[in-house]
Amino acid sequence: MGQSITFKKADHLKEKPGSAKLGFGKLFTDYMFEMDYSTEKGWHDARIVPYGPIKLDPAATIFHYGQEVFEGLKAYRTEDKRVLLFRPDKNMARMNQSCDRLNIPKIDEKFVIKAIKKLVAIEEAWIPSEPGQSLYIRPFIIGTDAALGVHPSATYKLLIILSPVGAYFGNSMSPVKIYVEDEFVRAVKGGVGYAKTAGNYAASLKAQTKSEELGFDQVLWLDGVEHKYIEEVGSMNIFFKIDDEVWTPALNGSILPGVTRASVIELLKKWGIKVKEKKVSVNKLFKKAEKQKLKEVFGTGTAAVISPVGFLKWEDHVIKVANGKTGKLSQKLYDTITGIQSGKIEDKLGWTQEVKLQKEKEAVAK
Ligand SMILES: *Cc1c(COP(=O)(O)O)cnc(C)c1O
Repeated sequence: MGQSITFKKADHLKEKPGSAKLGFGKLFTDYMFEMDYSTEKGWHDARIVPYGPIKLDPAATIFHYGQEVFEGLKAYRTEDKRVLLFRPDKNMARMNQSCDRLNIPKIDEKFVIKAIKKLVAIEEAWIPSEPGQSLYIRPFIIGTDAALGVHPSATYKLLIILSPVGAYFGNSMSPVKIYVEDEFVRAVKGGVGYAKTAGNYAASLKAQTKSEELGFDQVLWLDGVEHKYIEEVGSMNIFFKIDDEVWTPALNGSILPGVTRASVIELLKKWGIKVKEKKVSVNKLFKKAEKQKLKEVFGTGTAAVISPVGFLKWEDHVIKVANGKTGKLSQKLYDTITGIQSGKIEDKLGWTQEVKLQKEKEAVAK
């Protein structure tokens, strides 16, 4: 599919924000990538165009039946001004897994990585460079057929938008308070829990609001059938340090397979720490905590990388983890992964891909 990517120049460019006001996902860059799918042509008309509203028929399937998948990754600026992506091949492989589950035609993974690199190179000036800051990349696909009959769309649109984002934590990591949700569930086996798709988030909002009203930061989900086994947190996977071992719920079809999760498991194994991917019941976890065996809890995801958990509440039981502070292992994982992402630590695992800024920009100018 050696198709080319066309470029349409914007009439004027936006003013870049000051680094203090970034936040998460509130500002968008000057350009976006767009590509269409039809049964006759497959994926076609790859183009980088000025960022702006898209026009869709009100009957488009995305509005009624939610046929959508998305991804989330980041471009990082190194001290020597290079630009790195972290394991984009993993994100694209997962996007195709999500496509498969949502009955969306697959993408050419290599081609979409190429599109991401080109777009990021064009938007180089938007990549913030202070510690912890990055350019968030959001590729997504929507069904666009104007048809109210329930069937898979015959036409789709793939878009990639970029948003400069601030450091998730300020100067130091601050542990979050988690509420174990025992009424609502996020996903069930056989459903779409392992796919990165809009509906999973729509289903999670009510519980998230409830947990915030109760004074918590995020929800810890239990399995959808027995409400006994731990699945994941909000938009992060979850890990528990029990004495000298680390446990994380095994992927079971209703848990999202995080790229950060996979990277943490690889690092822990490399460091000689025993990692168990297993069914973890909430009852057992709280028993371990009672016996002072639960040493650290942390979430993993692209946004925060590692998010230490300081406090857990399940029914009438509460646990304070690591005295409400960031544990040593959580800190070491955070420092290692962010070090590799920002080029401060040598990438011996081949996890990063450099965006060749000059080459990409020259290709566009031609
Ligand atoms: C994206 C996501 C994660 C984290 O995945 P990463 O690839 O590590 O960013 C975890 N859980 C859910 C529900 C997600 O959507």
